[in-house]
Amino acid sequence: MNARIIDGKAIAADIAIENALRAARLRDAGTVPGLAVVIVGDDPASKVYVRNKALACEKAGLNSWVHALPANTPQERLIAFLRSLNADPTVHGILVQLPLPRPLDARAVIEAIDPAKDVDGFHYQNVGALVVGDPAFYPCTPWGVMKMLEHEGVGVEGMHAVIVGRSTIVGKPMALMLVNAGATVTVCHSKTRDLPAVTRQADLLVAAVGKARMIGADMVKPGAVVIDVGINRLPDGKLCGDVDYEAVAKVASRITPVPGGVGPMTIAMLVANTVRGAEKAAGLAAPMPTRIA
Ligand code: NDP
Repeated sequence: MNARIIDGKAIAADIAIENALRAARLRDAGTVPGLAVVIVGDDPASKVYVRNKALACEKAGLNSWVHALPANTPQERLIAFLRSLNADPTVHGILVQLPLPRPLDARAVIEAIDPAKDVDGFHYQNVGALVVGDPAFYPCTPWGVMKMLEHEGVGVEGMHAVIVGRSTIVGKPMALMLVNAGATVTVCHSKTRDLPAVTRQADLLVAAVGKARMIGADMVKPGAVVIDVGINRLPDGKLCGDVDYEAVAKVASRITPVPGGVGPMTIAMLVANTVRGAEKAAGLAAPMPTRIA
């Protein structure tokens, strides 16, 4: 193995300490930051994610509430419930765990969240701010990747970044953050012709597909920085990423493992966004995300 391992767990632990210190400062000023997580239905994977998010909040000294609603909750009732959370001053962050069961319309549900409490950064208002490059709540996974790169001293300005995946929660916001930071960005997806020819041009390769080990060593330029967002469960129950880690680590200069890479960063950034929401509500100077130069 030649690549330096980017230890997402360790970087996330540093951010968690920062979150806890900021939460303590808020508590001293009379505000306990609070995250309300809404889960509809009983998807087992979603339940695990929700539990981990609540646990991370508690560890940092935040309040967290998990509201579990039945799968057949009517859309109007869900939206009315979100409006009650919007109006609750003890709630600084609201997150609706996706995917939502049918026939709920996820877009309409997200738009019902107050953008000032939309700690996932999915509301149109926050998406628009990201497009423009203004401070806002940014989606936690790609924002976590940016923080990771910053922490590692990887200056993305001038790099050719190739992202595989164009989802609204990972690929597209990742592309915007990298473009805002001065990278030249190519976004690939299932219709991309000759994917390996494109990925081989990447100085920075971000895989966000959801296909176990699909990025092989032959798809990576020697010395590239490789970020693996994918989380896939193998038949033996183990987790693996979208990148063939063992093979690619021989070619790349830096690589994130799965687990222990991007995953912990996502949760750390969610807590950071909630703390920031509370700082804004309390009128304390909040370190807002800005362009990473
Ligand atoms: P989506 O399924 O929403 O998007 C997958 C993307 O991959 C799509 O844009 C799709 O293209 C593209 N794709 C699929 N097959 C290919 C292919 N053969 N070649 C090129 N592109 C392809 O997934 P998400 O973005 O939600 O998640 C991606 C992965 O990241 C998953 O494994 C997920 O579990 C993980 N994840 C991890 C998080 C973390 O905290 N670490 C957080 C969120 C997600 P098209 O648009 O054309 O269909």
